[in-house]
Amino acid sequence: MIEVENLTKTYGPKVALQGVSFTAERGEILGLLGPNGAGKSTTMRILTGYFPPTSGSARIAGYDVVEDSLEVRRRIGYLPENVPLYTDMTVRAYMDFVARAKQVQQRQDNVDWAMDAARVDHMADTIIGRLSKGYRQRVGLAQSLLGDPEVLILDEPTAGLDPNQIIETRQLIKTLGGDRTIILSTHILPEVSMVCSKVVIINRGTVVAVDTPHALTRQLTGADRVSLLVRAPAAEAERRLRGIAGVVEAVAHPQTGGLVQLDVDAEPGADVREQLSAAIVGQGWGLLELRAQSLSLEDIFLQLTTSEDHLDSYAQPAPAVAEEVLA
Ligand code: ADP
Ligand code: MG
Repeated sequence: MIEVENLTKTYGPKVALQGVSFTAERGEILGLLGPNGAGKSTTMRILTGYFPPTSGSARIAGYDVVEDSLEVRRRIGYLPENVPLYTDMTVRAYMDFVARAKQVQQRQDNVDWAMDAARVDHMADTIIGRLSKGYRQRVGLAQSLLGDPEVLILDEPTAGLDPNQIIETRQLIKTLGGDRTIILSTHILPEVSMVCSKVVIINRGTVVAVDTPHALTRQLTGADRVSLLVRAPAAEAERRLRGIAGVVEAVAHPQTGGLVQLDVDAEPGADVREQLSAAIVGQGWGLLELRAQSLSLEDIFLQLTTSEDHLDSYAQPAPAVAEEVLA
């Protein structure tokens, strides 16, 4: 549905994007994740036809964003970083105004539907200037829905919202998904794992990783690690667990009181937790703890954006601090 190929954008001497490529399938919610200045808004502005890339190309539903910009505009809804909301208009009047500008068919019905979908229908007659930041953002989402576009491009949709509004907005975005393809940008790391099916990590104008939030974690650790606390003879426990199919390595760290911590690395994708617990209990040993360990997106991001050659970091084991379990 969306194909971005080798995009470059320079603002005068400033290189904002260099060789950005990614794709999004129909129905996918793709998260563009990166710190401020990474190039997220620039990428989105190119996709919406706001300005052309310096080089490279992008297609939406097969239409080139530069060559066929009218076809593209008909198919996308855009929530810009700073939504230009006319503060002295009512929500309905603003929606009607945008619908006219977009030349939306069956304007009245479409405005009603979009306000309903973005849950601002009960605010239709309120002056925008009197709305909370959260509601203004929803009005921004509502206007992006006008014309019922196949693709939504949402630039930092949760920026500046309070925690409750953030939760509501994320839920709203998920419900707006379905058949629609959504690209949203964020610098909030947990957001992509909560909302997105795919994540494109971008830093200083380059894509440093593309994957599912879960697979990214696995790619970096190279394996799924399970940490156990058992009451068992260390050497024998180590030997037993190494014998389990799917286990790559097991290392015992003896603790006080006859306990031993066992760090087990499994082959990527192999979930060996049940086999581990069965083996331990089967020996009559005590199983006090069993916990899957993986990198949080924060750790991933740090690794991907701080290493000289990020591919090197794929081969390194998980740092000891990374214990957050990714849902
Ligand atoms: P993000 O949305 O990820 O924060 P942007 O796409 O807004 O990043 O910006 C990428 C880089 O391009 C930044 O270094 C920013 O300072 C620069 N930039 C963005 N817009 C302009 C502009 N109109 N003129 C000059 N530099 C710009
Ligand atoms: Mg931005």
